[in-house]
Amino acid sequence: MKTYDVLIVGGGHGGAAAALALRQKGFEGSVAIVTDELSPPYERPPLSKEYLAQEKTFDRILIRPESYWADRKVELVLGEPVVEVNAAHRQVQLWSTQRFGYGSLIWAAGGAPRRLACSGHDLPGVHSVRTREDVDAMMAELPGVESVVVIGGGYIGLEAAAVLRKFGKKVVVLEALDRVLARVAGEPLSRFYEAEHRAHGVDVRLGTTVDYIVERDGRAAGVRLADGEVLPAEMVVVGIGITPSVAPLIEAGAAGGNGVAVDGQCRTSLPHVYAIGDCALHRNTFAADAEIRLESVQNAADQAAVAVQAILGGTDVYRAVPWFWSNQYDLRLQTVGFSLGYDEVVVRGDPQNRAFTVVYLRQGRVIALDCVNSTKDYVQGKALVVGGLRVPANQLADASRPLKELAAECASPATG
Ligand code: FAD
Repeated sequence: MKTYDVLIVGGGHGGAAAALALRQKGFEGSVAIVTDELSPPYERPPLSKEYLAQEKTFDRILIRPESYWADRKVELVLGEPVVEVNAAHRQVQLWSTQRFGYGSLIWAAGGAPRRLACSGHDLPGVHSVRTREDVDAMMAELPGVESVVVIGGGYIGLEAAAVLRKFGKKVVVLEALDRVLARVAGEPLSRFYEAEHRAHGVDVRLGTTVDYIVERDGRAAGVRLADGEVLPAEMVVVGIGITPSVAPLIEAGAAGGNGVAVDGQCRTSLPHVYAIGDCALHRNTFAADAEIRLESVQNAADQAAVAVQAILGGTDVYRAVPWFWSNQYDLRLQTVGFSLGYDEVVVRGDPQNRAFTVVYLRQGRVIALDCVNSTKDYVQGKALVVGGLRVPANQLADASRPLKELAAECASPATG
């Protein structure tokens, strides 16, 4: 049985960042990444953007060229799910019956797309957007597709809808709630994106639930809605969130539920086992210390850095500012902070001009910004979020006043 000083489970953003950080910090011990995917680590965000749009080839979304990993003595074990963790013996069991030992284990297994619960959810023609294989399968079918129903009005569903419109497909987006992006953004942003998608020819249906996927000749042929209407579609794209991939850790006794619980240094409750990225349930300073999972490249990379320094004996705790982006049509959204629990929303600039910022406040302090085609606000607004600054709403709403000016004037650090 091989034993690695650091064994990383999952070769996505978090796993790759952890291996890179170990080598960058001069760690000379043995490192392996075990992943159930067949490809070396690649970037996931382009899957619903440039890769699906066929603007970037797979090579261009690799996190590092394949040879890089061998050059840095990071062993890649591809196509191998880890199915069991034995924390007492510091071993993992792979699907292929191989076992590996570890000094430290970094669990960076992300999540699996949630499936629809209705009949027809697994028919050919029904797709998720999580892996390269998912998107390759969509791309292979697209030439024969005229109509697509996208289920879920979150970022991934909306990004996919934008690309599919670019290909000239007829697109319907179904959202169960009364606005798109309802779980991640305030109403002004939701209404803006609804209007944009409609202006680009997408049929956005809100408050709409699915009864089942209609089958014809063994394939998806449409979606039947709860009100009985049938939307014809040769392709159905499902973007309704993920379930964190943590079963082997939870079965091994790790604390958690909707993710595996970690402390400020990404330690799970199991000795020598860390968890990072989409699957890590952590208390986040920028979410009023609520226990959350963050699904973003920023979180995966920054938690990887924290876990690695903890393994190397450091004491830093995770306090990184959350940031995220989304590209739809010619709109670049950049977010900073975490809007959970906001009690006031201010819009800076005019959404009609397609460049504006939504500022979120809690008890008078700025907690997050969503900046649409407004990189200046994104860059300058970070200080407001980091400082938890109190800025009067009327000043924030005045788009002629640069945010850095407001930050300088209002600097009065948050005390809680
Ligand atoms: P992942 O990158 O998902 O990596 C986990 C890996 O572990 C996967 O390869 C998985 O197959 C593997 N794995 C799972 N279980 C096992 C097991 N038992 N054994 C071995 N391997 C296993 N974030 C942004 O910040 N901006 C964006 O614009 C953005 N766009 C996105 C678009 C799409 C289509 C998707 C899917 C995600 C997007 N995200 C975006 C989110 C971002 O990609 C994730 O937050 C990030 O990839 C999380 O990294 P991770 O390492 O935690 O998980």
